[in-house]
Amino acid sequence: MANLNGRSRQENTYDAIVVGSGISGGWAAKELTEKGLKTLVLERGPMVRHLEDYPTAMTDPWDTKYPQGKLPAEQLKAQYPVQSRTGYTVNEYTKHFFVRDDENPYTEEERFDWIRSYQVGGRSLTWGRQTYRHSPMDFEANAREGVAIDWPIRYADLAPWYDYVERFIGVSGQNEGLPHLPDGQFQPPMEMNCVERAFKQRVEGRFGERRITMGRCAHLTEPTEEQLSLGRSKCQYRNMCMRGCPFGGYFSSNSATLVAAERTGNLRMRPDSIVTSLIYDAKAGKATGVRILDAQTLKEEEFYAEVIFLCASALNSTWIMLNSTSSRFENGFGNGSDQLGRNVMDHHFRVGAKADVEEFGDKYYSGRRPNGIYIPRFRNLGDAATKKDFLRGYGYQGGASRPGWDRDLAGEGFGADRKAAMSQPGPWTMQLGAFGEILPYEDNRVTLNHAAKDKYGLPTLSAKVTIRENEKAMRKDMQAAAVEMLEAAGFKNVMAADMGYAPGLGIHEMGTARMGRDPKTSVLNAHNQVHECTNVYVTDGAAMTSASCVNPSLTYMALTARAVDHAVQAKRKGDL
Ligand SMILES: Cc1cc2nc3c(=O)[nH]c(=O)nc-3n(C[C@H](O)[C@H](O)[C@H](O)COP(=O)(O)OP(=O)(O)OC[C@H]3O[C@@H](n4cnc5c(N)ncnc54)[C@H](O)[C@@H]3O)c2cc1C
Ligand code: SF4
Repeated sequence: MANLNGRSRQENTYDAIVVGSGISGGWAAKELTEKGLKTLVLERGPMVRHLEDYPTAMTDPWDTKYPQGKLPAEQLKAQYPVQSRTGYTVNEYTKHFFVRDDENPYTEEERFDWIRSYQVGGRSLTWGRQTYRHSPMDFEANAREGVAIDWPIRYADLAPWYDYVERFIGVSGQNEGLPHLPDGQFQPPMEMNCVERAFKQRVEGRFGERRITMGRCAHLTEPTEEQLSLGRSKCQYRNMCMRGCPFGGYFSSNSATLVAAERTGNLRMRPDSIVTSLIYDAKAGKATGVRILDAQTLKEEEFYAEVIFLCASALNSTWIMLNSTSSRFENGFGNGSDQLGRNVMDHHFRVGAKADVEEFGDKYYSGRRPNGIYIPRFRNLGDAATKKDFLRGYGYQGGASRPGWDRDLAGEGFGADRKAAMSQPGPWTMQLGAFGEILPYEDNRVTLNHAAKDKYGLPTLSAKVTIRENEKAMRKDMQAAAVEMLEAAGFKNVMAADMGYAPGLGIHEMGTARMGRDPKTSVLNAHNQVHECTNVYVTDGAAMTSASCVNPSLTYMALTARAVDHAVQAKRKGDL
């Protein structure tokens, strides 16, 4: 056991510990430090400094080792067999921001695509930045439909925190006045191109309940003084975000929350620190700290604090809790309900349609807009007109574009004719891809696998997650409605597509330590405190009681800011 003498215990004691530095952990760090708490952030991956550690941010296409930056198939198979299943995440420009699967094993009882980034900043560096609020309907759906358990909070509880987070991170978008996609604190929206504008006009004219809006995304289109003071600036429409942005144009922990935390003087960031378990004092009924394994020295150490925020991402926070057993918590930390690890949710997608657009041949657009259009949910909105034979709904992301000169690099021919042809933009196409809600099913779960250890000798996770009839029925409608809209817009050669979905591939895994009112059926209370140990807060995707159909990270950030506010007040009152 480390740190037995009093001095090192004192040295290793902070007001607060945050585990993980991704989207949720960055927020916990910013809020705790700004509220005056000396805060230690423990991050399992290496340091990534904003601007300094984005090695490929300025790499040109002609400077890559492999054509178009595509890694050789053998390398993908050996090192990134899971991370490469998306087809777009791992390449020469981005591979250093994703885990090596050969070094970070887990067991797939059924295929489960666990896409991870272990580094300072986590997946805030690699996320797609689509940013939407859950709606009042989303927080009420479980109770109304008798699915799983009710959320212990409502939209009104989170609304001020959504406002607060949006103002800080910077979200560009259009207010629409829809009850099922609440408006927010937006910077100016990005522009639709001429085909998207025509699609909007034609589809909205034909279907009263459908709205086409610009994607809401965490990019700066009109930076505030606060954002400029952090060193961030307006998005330049380069669309190379996943390499790290030299302009701080999109929100990441590295460009925003961690910078804000650092300037308080209250932050200590400790990378290469794998938190392996929580330390529990049974007499006091509290967690006193965490144990870590130093990824460089392989030494174990302990750190102590009055309040602990688990923000290691849904499945990793769950892993830490499952691995934190004691005589009080034989079955995992705070797991009296046996719900820890259950109810894994994601968003199912890769279904929709695309079409050729034969009009607008003389029109183009400028820049590489890092965003598309969004069609908010229009099914099961609570009236007869939108009711379908499945529960919940889906929204579409998509857009229209013309391919550039790189559309046919391997094509035949050379000389002046080919050069002239490739100097012209290719034909317009438009595509729509749906993202649908997955219900919480108790037997969609992750468990701790003591038989399969990683290179550190730590037990690993085992995942068994499948989609059910509700999602399958929804997928048919997701495809049919996409075809219907592209046809209604008058576009040609409309082709339906279902490219298949495997759980995890949506990269929105959540639900494994859900919030609820009753400790018998949930792990966390209405403030994200572990029911059975209230000085531990879990504020990443693990906390989610249902998934909605919108991208979830904004909700994790709002839950985190709200939970910190609660923790700091509780600490002041001596309630922790
Ligand atoms: C390609 C891609 C596109 C996406 N697009 C979107 C989108 O458009 N909109 C959206 O809302 N979401 C999107 N997401 C999902 C989004 O990235 C996640 O929801 C979000 O990052 C989750 O935040 P987090 O803080 O919980 O986890 P992460 O950001 O993953 O951070 C967790 C951190 O914890 C660290 N950690 C893990 N275990 C330990 C441990 N034991 N000890 C110490 N540290 C640990 C990790 O190294 C990591 O740095 C996308 C993700 C990807 C990869
Ligand atoms: S599109 Fe914007 S946010 Fe993305 S890399 Fe370019 S400037 Fe940065």
